[in-house]
Amino acid sequence: MNVLLLGSGGREHALAWKLSQSSRLGTLYAAPGNPGIAAHATLVPLDATDHAAVVAFARAQDIGLVVIGPEAPLVDGLADSLRDAGIPVFGPGKAAAQLEGSKGFTKDLCARAAIPTAGYFRCTTREAADNALATTFSYPVVIKADGLAAGKGVTIAYSRDEAAAALDALFAEPGDVVIEEFLDGEEASLFVLTDGTTLMPFGSAQDHKRVGEGDTGPNTGGMGAYSPAPVLTPTLESQAIDEIVAPTVKAMAEDGTPFVGVLYAGLMLTSSGPKLIEYNARFGDPETQVVLMRFQGDLVEVLLAVAKGRLGELPPPAFAPETAMTVVVAAKGYPGTPAKGGTIRGLDAAAATGATVFHAGTRQEGETVVASGGRVLAVTAMAPDIASAQAAAYRAVDAIDYADGFCRRDIGWRELAR
Ligand code: ATP
Repeated sequence: MNVLLLGSGGREHALAWKLSQSSRLGTLYAAPGNPGIAAHATLVPLDATDHAAVVAFARAQDIGLVVIGPEAPLVDGLADSLRDAGIPVFGPGKAAAQLEGSKGFTKDLCARAAIPTAGYFRCTTREAADNALATTFSYPVVIKADGLAAGKGVTIAYSRDEAAAALDALFAEPGDVVIEEFLDGEEASLFVLTDGTTLMPFGSAQDHKRVGEGDTGPNTGGMGAYSPAPVLTPTLESQAIDEIVAPTVKAMAEDGTPFVGVLYAGLMLTSSGPKLIEYNARFGDPETQVVLMRFQGDLVEVLLAVAKGRLGELPPPAFAPETAMTVVVAAKGYPGTPAKGGTIRGLDAAAATGATVFHAGTRQEGETVVASGGRVLAVTAMAPDIASAQAAAYRAVDAIDYADGFCRRDIGWRELAR
């Protein structure tokens, strides 16, 4: 079967790598892809915002499954356009993608379905926000833009002044604001595949969002991750599925907007149990790199079963018991203004250590690979325990020669300290 994968990051390289291992795969196409993805797929210059062009390509190339990597095309309704054309697609439609696209939507759904999450207030005016802060919340308080903000729309305000500054910035732009109670605990990510009714737990991970060692400095898309997340014990995972994910999937189906794809639940493990921080409507980046490294099944088969509403026919997925770790190599300046165009050498030497180097933001210039984004590579290794996975990942990082790049040297520190 021919498969079309949309996206160009490290997440999509990991998806292409795993999809290409399937015995069911005919030709894998990727749009726009990157030099790493090109090793597994035929790259095509399709624009995901041009739904008619994606549908026409899928028909012309006899595509049996479209896998949508990033959130923007999901929130834009590309999955609906493909489904309307009868093309199986892994990824939610526009209505269900609101679980990621609108924090207010998700909070309202949680309230309706009694899903454990932080107390909240949705506001459309500054006056209402000020009033809620004065009457309902204590500090610290969390202030968020309602819509997609690539991790940059969230402020944890420790004082009235900090809250006021965050509200000033958010209300300067169009869009609603959500104020939330601050949750204390450790964060973990849980992935659950669903065809709209059946759930298939698909691994856990923890990531490092801050740019600096010791989890300091500005937020990024993610500087590294590991899977599994031992803090999310089997008991806590079951609790999160029963109390958070299952009621969400049920409510979406009852509303006539079933969620088809991967629900990525960002959880806070509080002293009173797991609570939902946020949903993402797609695989995480860089969590996908570590989850898929451990996944031992046929990814085409599983994603197709999701797309076709047949997840219930599959056995539970198998994952390697080992720990996988990925270290993101970013361009100096990231997450501000990253240095572009730096030459990357030593990728073969890194692979020779046994690690897998996923390309995130790279471009091919003749024989040379150069950096073209903020996050450039995701260097991923698997080993029997987290200490040896970390050693293996950094061994591969150290084989790479990329003068304009940097990485955190402490990915996994919290788990290693336990
Ligand atoms: P992401 O890039 O993770 O998708 P986002 O913009 O969707 O970010 P959230 O995930 O809702 O925003 O929040 C980002 C981070 O802020 C969380 O990972 C968490 O560390 C912190 N955070 C969010 N909400 C709360 C809360 N209620 N209590 C404590 N911390 C929170």
